[in-house]
Amino acid sequence: MELIVARNREDLVKARRAGPVALVPTMGALHEGHRSLIRQARVRADQVVVSIFVNPLQFGPNEDFSRYPRTFEADLDVCRAEGVDVVFHPSVEDMYAPDRQIGISSGEMGRIVEGAFRPGHFDGMLTVVLKLFNLVQPDLAVFGQKDAQQLSLISRMVADLNLPIEVLGAPTVREPDGLALSSRNRYLSEDERRVALSLSRALRAGAAEFAPDAIRRAARAVLDEAGSRLDVDYLALVDPATFAEVSEDHQGVAVLAVAARVGATRLIDNVTLTLNPA
Ligand code: AMP
Repeated sequence: MELIVARNREDLVKARRAGPVALVPTMGALHEGHRSLIRQARVRADQVVVSIFVNPLQFGPNEDFSRYPRTFEADLDVCRAEGVDVVFHPSVEDMYAPDRQIGISSGEMGRIVEGAFRPGHFDGMLTVVLKLFNLVQPDLAVFGQKDAQQLSLISRMVADLNLPIEVLGAPTVREPDGLALSSRNRYLSEDERRVALSLSRALRAGAAEFAPDAIRRAARAVLDEAGSRLDVDYLALVDPATFAEVSEDHQGVAVLAVAARVGATRLIDNVTLTLNPA
């Protein structure tokens, strides 16, 4: 089947086939992480739609919207190689009317941890995801665990607003040395990349412990070793359902999440852990 490029709702309706449809929302600059999401979608659905849209609403005024990598032709090759059926690639003007008024509020959960450092980010992200859901009308949608708070917020939105969509989370794909794949990794110099490895090393050090304080201490020690070249925004050990910090006696699943800047590039990473196993 030829890959169809859809620009608007009309194109999407024409391309629609019977059977389950899976949506994989992305901002493009596709890498192995995105490919693994597409493969997971492929297993579950008859038709796979990948959206490629750099969403201005989820970037702050001093963030990298204008310099975010845009590699559309290469992305189409990736989608063809992965057997994607439809690429949805709207323009900013198609997505947002100049007089638009209404958006989604991500609530308290969108203002903590990552949200505390990126005001408005999660509101903008949820708004575009809901619009994509309405435009594509998928049966299921696949998101990466790499953006753990995003995945939790989308699951909350689906539950709180009764959206008839199944949300699937896919594990983080990493380089052999542990660096989580990200479209932003291409900004890193060789030297900065070495510094960036501290994020995944810190998470691994934390994951070797079992109790919250010990986990936080072990991870923080690795981040501290990196010195001033690593500018840490946060290291948080949170309940994945709420993103609130867990207490010392918390049992069960938790997410150890980190965000830091290396030079001009801001990176995030996380691991899922089981605390205080009985
Ligand atoms: P982005 O294009 O960065 O907005 O990401 C689109 C989707 O790919 C999101 O659901 C991300 O969580 C997911 N993703 C990004 N990086 C990775 C990775 N290294 N492994 C798995 N999924 C990823």
